[in-house]
Amino acid sequence: MNNFEGSTHVRVLRPWLPETDALIPYLRRIDAAQVYSNYGPLSQEFSARLGEMTQAKGVTLTSNGTAAIEVALRAVAGGKGLCLMPSFTFIASAHAVTNAGMTPFLLDIDERSLTLTPDIARRALLSLPERPGAVLVVSAFGAPPDLGAWEDFRAETGIPVVFDAAAAATAIRGVGVAPVCLSLHATKVLGIGEGGAILTSDEELARRMTAMTGFGFLGRERLSAIRGGNTRLSEYAAAVGLAALDALPTKLQKLRSLALGYRKRLGGHRSRLQDGAGETWQTMTLNVVLPEGEAHETTARLDAARVEWRRWWGLGTHHHPAFAEVPRASLPVTEAIAPRVLGLPFHTELSAAEMDRVAGCLP
Ligand SMILES: *Cc1c(COP(=O)(O)O)cnc(C)c1O
Repeated sequence: MNNFEGSTHVRVLRPWLPETDALIPYLRRIDAAQVYSNYGPLSQEFSARLGEMTQAKGVTLTSNGTAAIEVALRAVAGGKGLCLMPSFTFIASAHAVTNAGMTPFLLDIDERSLTLTPDIARRALLSLPERPGAVLVVSAFGAPPDLGAWEDFRAETGIPVVFDAAAAATAIRGVGVAPVCLSLHATKVLGIGEGGAILTSDEELARRMTAMTGFGFLGRERLSAIRGGNTRLSEYAAAVGLAALDALPTKLQKLRSLALGYRKRLGGHRSRLQDGAGETWQTMTLNVVLPEGEAHETTARLDAARVEWRRWWGLGTHHHPAFAEVPRASLPVTEAIAPRVLGLPFHTELSAAEMDRVAGCLP
């Protein structure tokens, strides 16, 4: 319960997942097959459909997005060394890096795309004490990462790249060797409750990563060939996944029209939406970048109008006590821009009048 319960406040997010009736046909298939986990028939179908959607040859399903990043980093970097990553990300990225046995090295972001770029990483390489074991590139709130530019970086430096594209499941096309990690959390576009996936064009790597999600059993039955753990997706979660894919075109259309509604309203404003948001890619967490020096007044106006807002990623990884001590470069862009990135109310129950009210608070 929050303070606004029962009043006319505008909520920042409402997840939208398949309802019971849509799940029943899939649940009956579980009853019939009596397989509940361990890469069962629903998981196989879900993984095949995810592969079709993203044009990835290899798909590894995981129990959540954080586990996907951990498995991918262990698979490509062997669970040791420095991992370059942007400070500006959801804190799960840093947990995944340390859980994978690596030390995060926090870098700054590009002001326009809000992401780590190959150029920022190249500059960091010149002054690092050691050669990093991997780079974790983060998609900003569902924007498609520049897979091609990072493939060039990987080819040129030999440093493995992993994508934390947690919120970008529906924006990913043309996956290469570098693993692309997705989250299927309820707050992502393809939400199933809890779940994740790793995409790659390298089928052998996908086979290894899938084995790592199930105690490293590979080749001979019940013989652990690689270290891993249990981060599989259950058949029940796969059932939700299949129903979520059935409903995805409708959901994407609604998200698109909402985002375009905001875009139209913000036409004459100095606040900007992320490039392409609502146009070329869809998100569940629509953010506005406010003009310099206006974050405080804007959040005060939103509060007064009973409009919820959220800094989905906070002020950067280095501001979290658990990661205050990790090594980092200087982060001037992150410091300047993170306070100005605000998540706006964004869900399918938002009315036109409520969107007017939100836009009216923004410079
Ligand atoms: C949601 C998210 C994650 C974590 O995914 P979970 O499925 O919640 O574990 C990691 N990184 C980013 C950028 C995210 O948005």
